[in-house]
Amino acid sequence: MAQSAPLILRLLASSVTAATRAGKIIKDVMTKGELGIVEKGLEKNDVQTEADRSAQRCIVASLSKQFPDVTIIGEEGQLSESDVPSDWIVTESDQSVLSANCPPSFVNTVPEDIVVWVDPLDGTSEYTEGLLDHVTVLIGVAVSGRAVGGVIHQPYYNYKTVPDTPGRTLWGLVGAGVGGFNPIDPPQDKFIITTSRSHRDGMVSNALKSLNPDDVISVGGAGHKVLVVLEGRAHAYVYASRGCKKWDTCAPEAILEASGGRLTDIHGKHYSYDKNVSFPDNQGIFATARTVDHDALVSKLPQEIKDAFPY
Ligand code: AMP
Ligand code: MG
Ligand code: MG
Repeated sequence: MAQSAPLILRLLASSVTAATRAGKIIKDVMTKGELGIVEKGLEKNDVQTEADRSAQRCIVASLSKQFPDVTIIGEEGQLSESDVPSDWIVTESDQSVLSANCPPSFVNTVPEDIVVWVDPLDGTSEYTEGLLDHVTVLIGVAVSGRAVGGVIHQPYYNYKTVPDTPGRTLWGLVGAGVGGFNPIDPPQDKFIITTSRSHRDGMVSNALKSLNPDDVISVGGAGHKVLVVLEGRAHAYVYASRGCKKWDTCAPEAILEASGGRLTDIHGKHYSYDKNVSFPDNQGIFATARTVDHDALVSKLPQEIKDAFPY
């Protein structure tokens, strides 16, 4: 039965299992306490830990074993695929994804149409600072350049009240809907925006001010901020900055859009997730819940802010 499901469902079903296994690795590294932090670039708050590296090796080894012809791009680049511990390689499929109704447009999708974007640990700064519920594992599935399928695993979901939390794993496929959670609409009597906690500059703040929110929720992680929108705690996620990359937005965009919301750049255009695109999301992020008029909100951003992020 499983083998007869369309490729996109089998890939997403395996991604749910791989993301969940990666989350366990992230928790094990934290429990052990040897984070192995290295600075990645010149930018502030751009670090990598043993958890980022190990989680990516788990996901890439698990998916490439089952889908050898699919292109997989991971944030941490090419890591050794040899000596991956055998219990990190998981090939089980999530049954709820396998039994979803595949949208007709994806029934005949072939491996060559697909790029998988992996952020093995989104919110690394927050992970190292102990803000553990900001951490997510992101696996995004792009078909013909569009972000259409996604998995967000939150290993520390509810960890403050549930000490041994298994976390939670959300998935979405545009045209099929979402699973693993129930989206909630944001309140109608207030307007709340979520944005970055650790990567802020004048432009990020000016963009927020121009939209005149009642409240701003500053939290870590692109995956986590989209969760804040999906949970109805914010109406929009706005980030007028170049710092996010395709692996940060592919899975969140797919899940948000599968729920009826939108995730675009600050001009209101979707990013391409083809294998040849440059990694940075150079035109920022503008995401909205399904009850928000996305284009109307985009049009409220001042032209001088938009002009600072040309194509
Ligand atoms: P944040 O919203 O700041 O938590 O960022 C979401 C994702 O984008 C994380 O993976 C960050 O590492 C990445 N990111 C955003 N802005 C920057 C930046 N200025 N430099 C490096 N990474 C960034
Ligand atoms: Mg990230
Ligand atoms: Mg990361």
